[in-house]
Amino acid sequence: MANIKAYAATAPDSGMAPFAIDRRELRADDISIDIDYCGVCHSDLHTVENDWGGSKYPVVPGHEIVGRVTAVGPAATRYKEGDLVGVGCMVDSCRICQACESGLEQYCLGGATMTYGSLDRHDGTVTHGGYSERIVVSERFVVRIPEQLDPASAAPLLCAGITTYSPLRHFNVGKGHKVGVLGMGGLGHMGVKFAKALGAEVTIFTRSEAKVSEARKHGADHVIISTDKAQMKAASDSFDFLLDTIPVAHDLNPYLKCLRYDGTHILVGLLTPVEPALQAGLLVTRRRVVAGSLIGGMPETQEVLDFCAEHEIACDIEMLDIHNINEAYARMKKGDVKYRFVIDMKSLKNS
Ligand code: NDP
Ligand code: ZN
Repeated sequence: MANIKAYAATAPDSGMAPFAIDRRELRADDISIDIDYCGVCHSDLHTVENDWGGSKYPVVPGHEIVGRVTAVGPAATRYKEGDLVGVGCMVDSCRICQACESGLEQYCLGGATMTYGSLDRHDGTVTHGGYSERIVVSERFVVRIPEQLDPASAAPLLCAGITTYSPLRHFNVGKGHKVGVLGMGGLGHMGVKFAKALGAEVTIFTRSEAKVSEARKHGADHVIISTDKAQMKAASDSFDFLLDTIPVAHDLNPYLKCLRYDGTHILVGLLTPVEPALQAGLLVTRRRVVAGSLIGGMPETQEVLDFCAEHEIACDIEMLDIHNINEAYARMKKGDVKYRFVIDMKSLKNS
């Protein structure tokens, strides 16, 4: 057992502060990773503030982890000391159910073990994430960072990237499709880049006039200000897919009207009840579908990294020292992030 530096929340209103945690000795298929960078996801904030209920304190968030392998367990074969690797939202699963065997560990029938705030399925301890110096994880839940990628801007691909890539691939989004991306934050700006790379015509729906020019810079063909009723009405019956990254309850009905018949509204941002209620008539009269999607499995997480290397896609990041994390959360709440904070873990190691 090693005692290492981390940052944790100890209660929903505690804010984040330095905290020491233990990392286990390596199990047979484990590797130990010295963390260089960790992205800051809105899910970190939801968990810290217990928005979804059930947060287990202390919470050490962080599931966009990039670092170097420093030790390898006796049965681990995939990585060696010095390799640049990543860990995303999961660190374990049952490994034998149909979902796991299909490489869809996020839908493990026994419940995947998440990188933080889950109970380790072997020793029952609570998992701690990447706002820490080091992580110990089974190599099955580790991916390789292609050398063409900048390690810091690759970190957000492990959650924001895979979460937007996976549903676009699942629904076969491509040339000839009109795709709308709702919310231009960490997930949203990656959704635009992927939908464009897959050949779709892409529109950003944002509340913010200030993001219009940047949406175009990320490759969006069009921008709709979602608070402008006339712009929303003009978009009626025109989209094949909407990828909804909005992190709080919001009225889906005006967006559903923007889908053409057989169009699909894919929820990735919302994990709490839909309010106000869905108008079923909007679904029935156009055979519209409301779907959801959770991160992506391990093979697809490697795929998105390789896809980004091949298509020269990078996340837009703002580097952060870990002692500024509370300020970063406050800015995230205001939608003022361009477009992902990434913690430089030197700021923790040197503290
Ligand atoms: P960000 O905070 O980076 O971005 C969210 C964006 O949504 C904002 O930039 C803003 O865009 C828009 N938004 C924020 N508040 C509101 C509001 N009140 N009404 C309308 N729009 C709003 O968050 P992330 O991209 O990191 O995460 C988005 C959501 O996805 C979170 O809830 C997160 O927990 C969830 N998530 C889900 C995953 C999954 O597997 N399904 C995985 C990872 C995250 P704008 O200013 O352009 O309007
Ligand atoms: Zn995330």
